[in-house]
Amino acid sequence: MIPFYKLERYEGNEALFELVMMSIVASMVGEPLHIHAEGLRGTGKTTIMRAAKGILPNIIRIKGCVYNCDPAAPHCPHHRNMSKDEIASLGTEEIPMPFLEISHSAKVGTVAGSVDLARLTDASRPEAQLLPGLIPQAHRGIIFIDEINRLADTSPEITDILLDVMGNKPGHIQIEEAGLPVVDITVSVSVWAASNPDEDPGPVEEIRRQLSDRFDMVCYMGRPNSVDILAQMLKENSHQWKARAQKMDASVDEDKNEAYRKDIIKWAGLYEKTDMPDFLRNYIARIYIKHNLESIRAIEAMQSGAILHSILKGRDKVAINDVTHMIPLVLKHRVDSDTMVRMINDVDSKGVKDGILSFKNKRKKDNEGDPDYFPHSATPLKDIRRSDLVNTEKSLTPNEG
Ligand SMILES: [Zn+2]
Repeated sequence: MIPFYKLERYEGNEALFELVMMSIVASMVGEPLHIHAEGLRGTGKTTIMRAAKGILPNIIRIKGCVYNCDPAAPHCPHHRNMSKDEIASLGTEEIPMPFLEISHSAKVGTVAGSVDLARLTDASRPEAQLLPGLIPQAHRGIIFIDEINRLADTSPEITDILLDVMGNKPGHIQIEEAGLPVVDITVSVSVWAASNPDEDPGPVEEIRRQLSDRFDMVCYMGRPNSVDILAQMLKENSHQWKARAQKMDASVDEDKNEAYRKDIIKWAGLYEKTDMPDFLRNYIARIYIKHNLESIRAIEAMQSGAILHSILKGRDKVAINDVTHMIPLVLKHRVDSDTMVRMINDVDSKGVKDGILSFKNKRKKDNEGDPDYFPHSATPLKDIRRSDLVNTEKSLTPNEG
């Protein structure tokens, strides 16, 4: 696998790099941030997500706890009822933030948990105990699901589990096994997913709308439209390049990964302290009302996303353009394309600076009636059809399918 720092960045995939970083930073402070990369095959969405495994910082857990209990807040069935002294006597250890992958053919037992057969058949001390599945083992880290649309289509049970895990922050998971009491545990896991909405069975929002809404942000990796990028993609997919990449793999520069880890830890510290100014919170609330949004999750994601974006960009304050930057990422999967175009149009129709100025002016002229923070000056974006906005695989390869 190509190390994270060697991955090619360009306009079309920059947003995904950002989202991946935001989600790691949020996970670091115990706040899951669920992200979904949609797009064509070959745009590198799974490569970017999987490569992020190499830059994850360490977490500290109770020594040997497969549920990754935080020594300061133990949650697993073994440790949650122990006293502080008992926990302290167990000791701690550092492990890399977990990054586990669920395949679309996974079974419920693998994902949630099952009876530990080794313990059950231990002749000297038979014991019925649960073996936590992938999700509880990924507590305080990341679960990655490629082709989530296929999973949603073929595994409604696992989709239900994901809905629970992603329903609240933190979420929860129930491990059920015949003959054993049901165990309900808290899980704080960021779910990362990838899918190609143009391939069977279609976009997640059309298969399980609820699941789609659980993702805080969706990044659409559009069709690359520059010759340079396409040439680079061809190069990366050629055999020669693959052979070279394998050789490069042997010489991973750990210092570069370490630099990312340091940034993540620094940003996590800042994220814990940074809040959004009230006027921006009002601005987000206005977007919600003006555009008739249905999902409170959407504006919550807009708030955390804007704060994280300002931190990643090294700003000491959250600005209005941090909020507007998040709009397409937070709403792509939640509103129809017309609403989306209208909103981007509204925001883009005046520069960010003007946006703030007009906002200030509006505040001064409060008695003016309905203050419209989204001035309607026409821009060509409004006239763009969805088919041009969202490039599909079909439009790239019109002769197929
Ligand atoms: Zn534990």
